[in-house]
Amino acid sequence: MSLQEAMRSLPSVEKLLKAMAPEEHEPVPRPVVADLVRDEVAALREELQASATPLAEGEALARCKAAVSRFRSSRLQPVINGTGVIIHTNLGRSPLGARQAAALGAIATQYNNLELDLETGNRGRRAGYLERLLATLVGAEAAISVNNCASALVLVLRHLISEEKPVVVVSRGELVEIGGGFRIPEILEASGCTLREVGATNKTTADDYRAAIGPRTALLLKVHRSNFYLGGFTASPAIEELRDLAREHELPLVEDLGSGAVMQTDQLAPIEHEPTPGESIAKGIDLVVFSGDKLLGGPQSGIIAGRSDLVAGVKAEPFFRAVRCDRLILAVLQETVEEYLRAKGGDAGDGDLDIPTIAMIREDPEALRTQAEALAAALGARSSLGVEVVESTARTGGGTMPKSEIPSVALRLTHPERDAESIAARFREGRPAVVGYIEDDRFHLDLRTLFAHQHEVLAAQAEALFPA
Ligand SMILES: *Cc1c(COP(=O)(O)O)cnc(C)c1O
Repeated sequence: MSLQEAMRSLPSVEKLLKAMAPEEHEPVPRPVVADLVRDEVAALREELQASATPLAEGEALARCKAAVSRFRSSRLQPVINGTGVIIHTNLGRSPLGARQAAALGAIATQYNNLELDLETGNRGRRAGYLERLLATLVGAEAAISVNNCASALVLVLRHLISEEKPVVVVSRGELVEIGGGFRIPEILEASGCTLREVGATNKTTADDYRAAIGPRTALLLKVHRSNFYLGGFTASPAIEELRDLAREHELPLVEDLGSGAVMQTDQLAPIEHEPTPGESIAKGIDLVVFSGDKLLGGPQSGIIAGRSDLVAGVKAEPFFRAVRCDRLILAVLQETVEEYLRAKGGDAGDGDLDIPTIAMIREDPEALRTQAEALAAALGARSSLGVEVVESTARTGGGTMPKSEIPSVALRLTHPERDAESIAARFREGRPAVVGYIEDDRFHLDLRTLFAHQHEVLAAQAEALFPA
């Protein structure tokens, strides 16, 4: 077989495109489908040149369809989370509640008073209302919000360092990687600061910080270890010790709390106590930064709270303009903070709080078991899956409380012809896709991260994907 003959087995881009019906690729726009087909044809041409073996009938079309389908599945879309990991960074962190979503919709589709003072008709202060509420929520003199916790950290450091004083003192035991390959030291250095690492991985004392302080020191920084648990022979100074040291040298003391719970997590579930921004501030931290979409359960954002002079300074930084929140984030964050303040300042036990992340953490395992049994019966009756209700362990996730295991309930699913990997892959093909986890070679769906309204969707999905 000659190379030329092999090449003739490759259909033209036009012919391939014509053979792909719009309903097979929607909502991927046609011009993008054309590009994907062109890329696939180019790849096939190279392969043919190397192999000189003609393509089988329909092979090129099948390859193009697979490429388009792969691309289509990368489109941002809802996913059913059966992993039991509540704040799952790969799954978009905290889902919003009905009131948060309604607030988003109202501001998204209409004009608003973002920078208009409705009393005077003059230009108004952006986010003034939210900032006041945020300060009340965390018990700080002042607070502001930016796009995420990483930008909050960079902004704060940029404000506090200067050419003469570029040094940030931080413990070696706190220079963690926060997931997705992002490391705290790299984020800190993005501010232009010079890091002065003190202590050892497992042990840092107040004297280590003291010895590192010099004329070029700008601030002392504490980073919450978040996703990383240090056990055994360890030590780190109390915030109060660092506060005294910082005051003595007239240096600001900043803490990156990461997740930033405003609820008492140990009252929500039998889990650890996650330090709150209010506790840190009460102990003498001058500025705390934390995420809006981890344990707060709000939109992606970063909150900076603490001393009013420092917050005002941070807000006056030109870089603040580069990382400020847009109206959509402000609308959701405002609703989120109101939600907590309505529920009496975040006392655990107030059932009216409509923050899904918090609701999932505090859901009673017995209630989950009842739901699991009903769902198991539906799946067993409507699909070819074998279903068992088992005890499981859910996690807060999102780099929060690595030691905290929340007792939960899961469905263990088996299939006469498929192994766990194959069941998982099939569930991901559904729309909405369903994501679970594999343990002991068995596929599981944890009830704690499923919304009640998704149970019927899930049963229908199982019925369609694994026909009885
Ligand atoms: C998660 C985390 C961050 C980053 O927060 P984003 O809101 O994702 O930018 C920073 N520091 C710590 C300690 C964290 O846990």
